[in-house]
Amino acid sequence: MPLDRMIEKAYDLIREGRVEQINNGVYNVVGEHGTYIVVRNIDGSVTCNCPGFTSKRRCSHSLAVMMINQPVLLKSIKREIEREDKWRRTKR
Ligand SMILES: [Zn+2]
Repeated sequence: MPLDRMIEKAYDLIREGRVEQINNGVYNVVGEHGTYIVVRNIDGSVTCNCPGFTSKRRCSHSLAVMMINQPVLLKSIKREIEREDKWRRTKR
């Protein structure tokens, strides 16, 4: 999956309220294929227990948790996605 598509997916997870903090640094993420546990480490890195993260070291769930912890980044992604949505609509 391309990175921008993954970012979009991660943003959807947040927007749809599928990312829930269940403990300090521990998040429950309801993905398309299952519910996963994302852990945010002290150094800011995140790990997820989904198959995608296990094989590729990245996934939309871990990205979503990263985004939630970086409000400035989240805001700029939101802007970017809204702009793209508008562009898509006018193209039709
Ligand atoms: Zn994952």
